[in-house]
Amino acid sequence: MEPDKELIVIGGGAAGLSAAQYGARANLSLLLLEELAAGGQCLIIDNLENYPGFPEPITGFELGRRLEDQARKFGAEIRILSARSVRRQGDVFQVDTDDGPLTSSAVILATGASHRALGIPGEKELAGRGVSYCATCDGPFFRDKRILVVGGGDTACDEASFLAKLTDKVLMIHRRDRFRAQKALAERVLHNPHLQVRFNTEARQIQGRAKVEGVLLYDKLEKRTYTEEVQAVFIFVGLIPRSGLVEGLELDEAGYIKTNQVMETNIRGLFAAGDVRSTPFRQLVVAAGEGAIAAHSAVQYIDELRNEAYR
Ligand code: NAP
Repeated sequence: MEPDKELIVIGGGAAGLSAAQYGARANLSLLLLEELAAGGQCLIIDNLENYPGFPEPITGFELGRRLEDQARKFGAEIRILSARSVRRQGDVFQVDTDDGPLTSSAVILATGASHRALGIPGEKELAGRGVSYCATCDGPFFRDKRILVVGGGDTACDEASFLAKLTDKVLMIHRRDRFRAQKALAERVLHNPHLQVRFNTEARQIQGRAKVEGVLLYDKLEKRTYTEEVQAVFIFVGLIPRSGLVEGLELDEAGYIKTNQVMETNIRGLFAAGDVRSTPFRQLVVAAGEGAIAAHSAVQYIDELRNEAYR
C-alpha cells in the first residue's frame, strides 16, 4: 500500500521548517507535524543578531513566520498535531499521532530540545507564578522588579541581557567561577550595569506562598546559605533532547541523536536535524542548514526506493 506521504518532518523549528522547504521544493509530498506553533525556539527569541543576512536584528517570531511562509509557498503541508511514536515497518514508517496513524517513506526528526529544570524545592510549585524558563514570554510581567537568573551558558547570558532592559535589578548566579557562554555574550553580561553576577553560587530553594518572594542561595566558596529577596526566578540551565519518539535510535551519552554528516541515523530512511541531533554547535543557522541536508538526503533515499520498486 502507498504511504500517505513521501516525507514526514516532525518538529516545526528552524531545522524542520528548512527541511520542509527543501523537501517540498524537490517535489516530495510532504507533511510537517508541529505540536504547538510553527517557529519552535525562534518564537521566544527577542532579538536575533547573528542569523546571516539580517544585519539589522530581526525578532525570532518574524524569522519563524518567514520560515513557515517559505515552506508553505513550496507546497509543504503543516499541521499542528503531536507525534507520539515512530516505527519502521518494512519500507514504510508509521507515525502515531494524536489524530491516529500516518505513514511515509521517510521521516526527518527535528524535534529539538526542551528546557532542563533545576529540580529544587519551590521550582515546580511556583512555576508560572514567578518561576519561568522564557524571558521574552514572562519578562515583561516583572518590569522594575528584582529578578534572579540561573545559568552560565549562551541562553542564560542572552536572556539575562534581555531582562536587564526591563529592570536594573537583575542578579545572575552561576555554579562555576566563569561562564560557559561564548565570550561575546559573557562580556556583554559582565559589563552591563543593570546586571549583578555572582559566580560559585547555587540556588537551593525558591521561596514564596502564592508567588515567588525569595530564593535561598548557597555561596560555594564561603560555604554559607543566605536568602535573597526576588519576585522572579528565570532558569536557563541547558536542554534535554526530545529524542524519545523512536525505539532503537543510536544516541550519544547526553541523549542526542547520532547521525552521519548527511543527517542519516542508524535507521534507514530516518534522518535527524537541529537541536535534537548530536552536534558541537547549536545555532539557528546550523539547524536550518542541517534541515536542508536532511531533506536532500531524504530525497536521495526516496529516489533510491523508487528505483528499487521499478527493478
Ligand atoms: P548549555 O550550553 O548546556 O549551558 C547550560 C548552563 O547551565 C551551564 O553553564 C551549566 O553549568 C548550567 N547548569 C546545568 N545544570 C545546572 C544545574 N543543575 N544547576 C545550575 N546550573 C546548571 O545550555 P544553553 O545555554 O541553554 O545552550 C544550549 C545550546 O544552544 C548551546 O549549544 C548554545 O551554544 C546554544 N545557544 C546559542 C545562542 C547564541 O548563539 N546566541 C543562544 C542560546 C543558546 P556548567 O557550565 O557548570 O556545566
